[in-house]
Amino acid sequence: MSRLAIRGARLLDGAGDHGVADVLLEDGTIAAMGEGAAAGAETLIDAGGALLTPAFLDLHAHLREPGQEVKEDLASGLAAAAAGGFGTVVSMANTSPTVDEPGIVADLVQKAERLSKARLRPAAALSHGLRGETLTDYAALQEAGAVMITDDGIPVANGRLMRSACEYAADLGLVVQTHSEDPSLRADGVMNEGEVSQELGLPGNPDAAEAAMVFRDCEIARLTGARVHIAHVTSKRSLQVVEHFKALGAPVTCEVTPHHLTLTDAALRSFDPVFKVAPPLRTEADVAYLRDALRRGVVDSIGTDHAPHTRAEKERDLMSAPFGLPNIEVAFPLLYTRLVETGELELPALLALLQDGPARVMGWTVPRLEVGAPADLVLLDLETERAVDPQRFRSKARFSPWAGERLRGWPTLTVVGGVVAHRLEERVATS
Ligand SMILES: [Zn+2]
Repeated sequence: MSRLAIRGARLLDGAGDHGVADVLLEDGTIAAMGEGAAAGAETLIDAGGALLTPAFLDLHAHLREPGQEVKEDLASGLAAAAAGGFGTVVSMANTSPTVDEPGIVADLVQKAERLSKARLRPAAALSHGLRGETLTDYAALQEAGAVMITDDGIPVANGRLMRSACEYAADLGLVVQTHSEDPSLRADGVMNEGEVSQELGLPGNPDAAEAAMVFRDCEIARLTGARVHIAHVTSKRSLQVVEHFKALGAPVTCEVTPHHLTLTDAALRSFDPVFKVAPPLRTEADVAYLRDALRRGVVDSIGTDHAPHTRAEKERDLMSAPFGLPNIEVAFPLLYTRLVETGELELPALLALLQDGPARVMGWTVPRLEVGAPADLVLLDLETERAVDPQRFRSKARFSPWAGERLRGWPTLTVVGGVVAHRLEERVATS
């Protein structure tokens, strides 16, 4: 394997700021750091003072393979992830067929390894076919490479099944991720239930649908001792429930998404289905509460919930268009520009939500810039402003709620296992 060196980068990880230094990568790990470390490298990348930090971890992305490759596939999805600075991605199981058999998990793992993009860590379905009726074989799925159990996309309506799932997963040390929305309360809502939905005459999905099931899932975590990760918390009420259970010492963690941190239900006034997500975009007060929770350290991770669809699907009318939007390539620049540059959140706190936070949720080693650590790194250009251009997405879903917005913080280089998985050529000078 070739020896790759990154010269003159400012090094920052969860242990702190390590100043400007050179880093040598060899055999998939960080082989040397400091002055002169770049000597003897075959490939030299001049960082020019850009920020070098561990590649991000996304515990929530829809890569659509198998069966929905018209929306996304492993090649496009993992390339998109690398372009967004992510070195590891947990893919969701709501594919076609669903990821409910060990053979499917093994296929995904094998295929992803050949791509040399972001690392794939598949989640497996909690129930066969995501039907919420019978549990899948968690031990066999874990053996095949599954790292998480979730029916994400479809809430688990039956509390007794969720309890059994948590008992089984707890025995195996698997994290159960929940899509917490009470289906009977959510009904056919296409947006947040509130002033805006009333004004527009659209069916709403009340915040109570989410908070009620978050409460149930936290109770089940407490009851069973299973590590339950609440996906895409969107509202003040839901987050308060999580906080309540955390205070009790329940083994509960939670995630928020880039879109729920930056958009509100007011966006639906455009009737543009790009803003149709599940759970829905909430109110300004909810967004403010989520942002404050980031500062208070209540949120464990930022998961993208990258959910690609074809343009044709998202150009249907609001009632029939599918839920979800692609965001994995813009997640960091968006949050850096909107939260860090505005002074709302410190950079290390944002990085922690993409690095140490998700690693701790999963029980993985926290990523560090140190000799011997895996060479999963991202170089971030915090200076150059550039517009979001969906036509240049690696994702097949070439649309975005943030199209045209000028952002800073773009990943210019992502290295996974010592191999370059993404490079923004015009941003990095080579010598
Ligand atoms: Zn999802």
